[in-house]
Amino acid sequence: MKISKLATRIAPSSTLAITAQAKEMKESGIDVVGFGAGEPDFDTPKHISEAAKEAIDNGFTRYTPASGIIQLKKAVAKKFLDENGVIYTPSQIVVSNGAKHSLINAFMAIVNYLDEVILPAPYWLSYPEMIKLVGGVPVPVMTEASNNFKITPDEFRAAITDKTCAIVLNSPSNPTGVVYSRDELKALADVAVEHDLWIISDEIYEYLVYDGVEHTCVASLSEDIYNHTITINGLSKGFAMTGWRIGFLAAPQPIATAVSNIQSHATSNPNSIAQMAALTALEDNRESVAEMQVEFAKRRDFLYDELCNIPGFSVIRPHGAFYCFVDISGLYGKAYNDVIIDSAATFAKLLLDEVAVALVPCTDFDAPSCIRFSYAIDMDSIKKGTDRVKDLVLKLK
Ligand code: PMP
Ligand code: GLU
Repeated sequence: MKISKLATRIAPSSTLAITAQAKEMKESGIDVVGFGAGEPDFDTPKHISEAAKEAIDNGFTRYTPASGIIQLKKAVAKKFLDENGVIYTPSQIVVSNGAKHSLINAFMAIVNYLDEVILPAPYWLSYPEMIKLVGGVPVPVMTEASNNFKITPDEFRAAITDKTCAIVLNSPSNPTGVVYSRDELKALADVAVEHDLWIISDEIYEYLVYDGVEHTCVASLSEDIYNHTITINGLSKGFAMTGWRIGFLAAPQPIATAVSNIQSHATSNPNSIAQMAALTALEDNRESVAEMQVEFAKRRDFLYDELCNIPGFSVIRPHGAFYCFVDISGLYGKAYNDVIIDSAATFAKLLLDEVAVALVPCTDFDAPSCIRFSYAIDMDSIKKGTDRVKDLVLKLK
């Protein structure tokens, strides 16, 4: 029996695979240090889980409107107004099964067959696969390390063709941890408006910013930009709710209506119980979010300093998300036993095999000489893991 050509063109998510492999090794008794995880290690705050239990006890267990319950969409609209200074009506919001689902819904709503979507590289590995899934063509645009891996308006302009329909912006960024300033985003968004392109702005790491750097919601930058922007966000990262699967998008009305129609056939509503948990999360103050942010900031400082002290590592200082991004091409040509380091993938495998440290080689992020450390793990593990990495690097010949 055959499978579709499309299915053969889609790669599995290597981030999820590495996290699963590290978990498996741990369960089999190996003392693995896992820097792979793209999810907070904190438990979902208690009051949020309690709201879900109450929802079950109250029998809130039936279908809801496909795009989410009105109370939750109102809470999302209020969040946009209070925190981002953007006005969305509840009908412009669609709640989905995680930000991943919101993203693929957005692509389905705007991409025609063979339309091009510009991806500033390095990019989060799921974007190109999602674009391919809806018949589009991902167009990576390599950014410069010297510009902190931020795409410039000129680089963006040079990649636009008559097939381009959108650009994906992701600030704070996975995998680099870089945060674009308001002016940088405005300059990029103005190019999109000038060429009548959609901006898909993935703001899932909104709350995780450090050093007093501020997150900017792209849709807030001007009326024209608002009319060209689909904002993606969700509760997975900021509220430690990855398993609950609640994300949302906000967009001009025709897009929100299209996405709601698509979702009504594809999945129906996101889980009713998780929606009640999300409502509690959003209606509450951001105390637990702030506590996690403070802890992430401490870990980032520590991890960044440790990594900077490892010879051959070139590290950029991240101002957001929970990742440190390291170029290891300084180690190319060196060897450990018979293994010669020629890529991030070889180095990551060596670390896992020899010193039980799991991290993500960024091959699928279009950065084959870079590795990504997640600091969504406790301080002791960060210390232990970086010591192991350093020891191994010092043994390279
Ligand atoms: N966007 C980015 C940049 C991410 O890193 C992730 C993490 N999985 C997502 C979207 C998807 O988040 P969710 O778990 O809500 O689907
Ligand atoms: N986004 C996270 C990561 O980059 C979670 C894994 C995934 O969804 O791919 O690791």
